[in-house]
Amino acid sequence: MTNPLLETHELPPFTDIRPEQVEPAIEKLIDENRNALEAQLAGLKEVTWDSLIEPIDTRNDMLNQAWSPVSHLNSVVNSDALREAYNNCVGKLAQWETEVGQNQGLFQAYKTLSESEHFARLTQAQRHSIKLALQSFHLSGVSLPKDKKQQFSRLTQRLAELSSTFGDNLMDATQAWNLLISDAEELAGVTDSSLALFAQAAAEKDQSGYLLTLDQPCFIAVMTYADSRPLREQMYQAFTTRASDQGPYAGQWDNSAIIDETLKLRHELSQILGLGNAAEVSLAPKMASSTSQVMSFLNDLAKQVKPQAEKEFAELSAFAKTELQIDHLEAWDIAYVSEKLRTQRYAISVEELRPWFPVERVLEGLYSIAGRLFDISIEQDRSVDLWHKDARFYRISRNGQAIASFYLDLYAREKKQGGAWMDVCRSRRKVAETVQLPVAYLTCNFTPPVAGKSALLTHDEVTTLFHEFGHGLHHMLTQVEVLAVSGINGVAWDAVELPSQFLENWCWQEESIELISAHFESGEALPKAMLDKLLAAKNFQSGMALARQLEFATFDFRLHLEYDPSNPRSSQELLDEVREHIAVIKVPEYNRFQNGFGHIFAGGYSAGYYSYLWAEVLSADAFSLFEEQGIFDQATGDSFRAAILEKGGSDEAMTLFVQFRGREPSNDALLRHRGIA
Ligand SMILES: [Zn+2]
Repeated sequence: MTNPLLETHELPPFTDIRPEQVEPAIEKLIDENRNALEAQLAGLKEVTWDSLIEPIDTRNDMLNQAWSPVSHLNSVVNSDALREAYNNCVGKLAQWETEVGQNQGLFQAYKTLSESEHFARLTQAQRHSIKLALQSFHLSGVSLPKDKKQQFSRLTQRLAELSSTFGDNLMDATQAWNLLISDAEELAGVTDSSLALFAQAAAEKDQSGYLLTLDQPCFIAVMTYADSRPLREQMYQAFTTRASDQGPYAGQWDNSAIIDETLKLRHELSQILGLGNAAEVSLAPKMASSTSQVMSFLNDLAKQVKPQAEKEFAELSAFAKTELQIDHLEAWDIAYVSEKLRTQRYAISVEELRPWFPVERVLEGLYSIAGRLFDISIEQDRSVDLWHKDARFYRISRNGQAIASFYLDLYAREKKQGGAWMDVCRSRRKVAETVQLPVAYLTCNFTPPVAGKSALLTHDEVTTLFHEFGHGLHHMLTQVEVLAVSGINGVAWDAVELPSQFLENWCWQEESIELISAHFESGEALPKAMLDKLLAAKNFQSGMALARQLEFATFDFRLHLEYDPSNPRSSQELLDEVREHIAVIKVPEYNRFQNGFGHIFAGGYSAGYYSYLWAEVLSADAFSLFEEQGIFDQATGDSFRAAILEKGGSDEAMTLFVQFRGREPSNDALLRHRGIA
């Protein structure tokens, strides 16, 4: 019996992968890696890059290549069997990682290499990767006594399980809720395209009428357009109580205990490492230099943003009262009333723009923009194996030379994790005499096409696509050949969002919007009047939006910074306090936002959610150079590609930024782009 996960392939053989093959393959690879590492260290004479790191990278890459498609399939075509196999491996992989991180012999070998004469002759990328590895050894507790090492290992393994369970609970709770509505009248206000989508969802389950779910496109459609206030409230409650002790499924899939245990264990880990708290652990490999620097960054921004957020909220409340007879704005009214106000003020609604952003046109435009900026061409290849009929595959080349490729999976569907993300399939790296090219997964959850028509995107969805594509370019345009720092590998978390948020800017420029829009039936260009309205509405409620980001970032950071083991404070209490300080929207008591905060409990963003804003300072400031030089200026595009995209994690994020911008970043461009004086 062959196991495709143990073979080498140019690209993963998705349709051949069976859940029962996952555990045996991962266990075998970990075992082989363990034995090979032991033999390697025992036989190591002279420590050089080729004798030490090259063989380790080769083995790591094999393990990555087996795990990456499994992890991807688990996210995009989930099944009970796959999920079980995936979860069984998560802890084992975390344990193996800790084992490597705590391997004293390996650590010594790295240290010897870093202190040898050989070191100075290595490339910048090689030297930087060794520096990051040494730091990571310290954060894995390499210098700890044996009993502490074991404790450390138990903690990380348990934390990996908790993170995975948190995500599963959230997905199950999201999918458990649905509401069948037979009478379209109850959905008054909702657009025809959304109604068609809900009807299609019902038909797929052999039901008649309209099936509402908590999937992003459905939830947003109801919250933004449904005239029925009770319906909005019902859905808001279901959404904001997912995986908690409240709401329609109170106590089922409840993440509350997982949150408490996660925080406790993260703090214990920080103590074992001799650091003050989990926020300090998080910052060690990041661009931000101290917890106080992050807190001042967040507090300063809050001070600059709050007055505008309050003003916007007061305007919204007044509008709700006079125009919609809503005397007291509730959380489930915000999106609805905002959309009405936006429509009145700018005479444009989010939905009205959809017909001008058919998905094929948007993709064509995106590829031509990236092509012009970074001198690449992108072509679809229909010959490769895919996991779903909606998935696609593209190859990127420069001057006729293949440089990278990516998968694209655009639409929301059942058994697919919500949100949008870029993930690594293959990393660029030198292999013998050739170079392995980078491959990325780009995943979104857009409104699927209805009844055979082309999918029509909102401008928001278009922006999300550009965002993820920016991450993709960071991974795919790298010229680095060292596994640990090529593409997005080794990039400081708080700088990771630089290329993604940077590329979003091309969704807001007249010259580039022209390239991504055309009416889906007539092919007609977006009328100038609509374009002007879209641009005028760009910073509508930007104070409120920033205040929300600051609320999440401050909550996350303080949660990890202020944890007191002798008197752990409930996350709810801290969230209430943060909201008191920053938020302008009051939420009901049952709101359990934190129980669905996957970024920090099931993703990599713990004590790192601030990274979005931190990186927005970088991306806004980087884009301001394009504003000065022209948004398609070749020299500026070349320089961004060379300093940021090609370098990946091969140098300090600040060094690379300064190389591109000629100076350190400033907040000015962010505030200006967001329309905040
Ligand atoms: Zn991102």
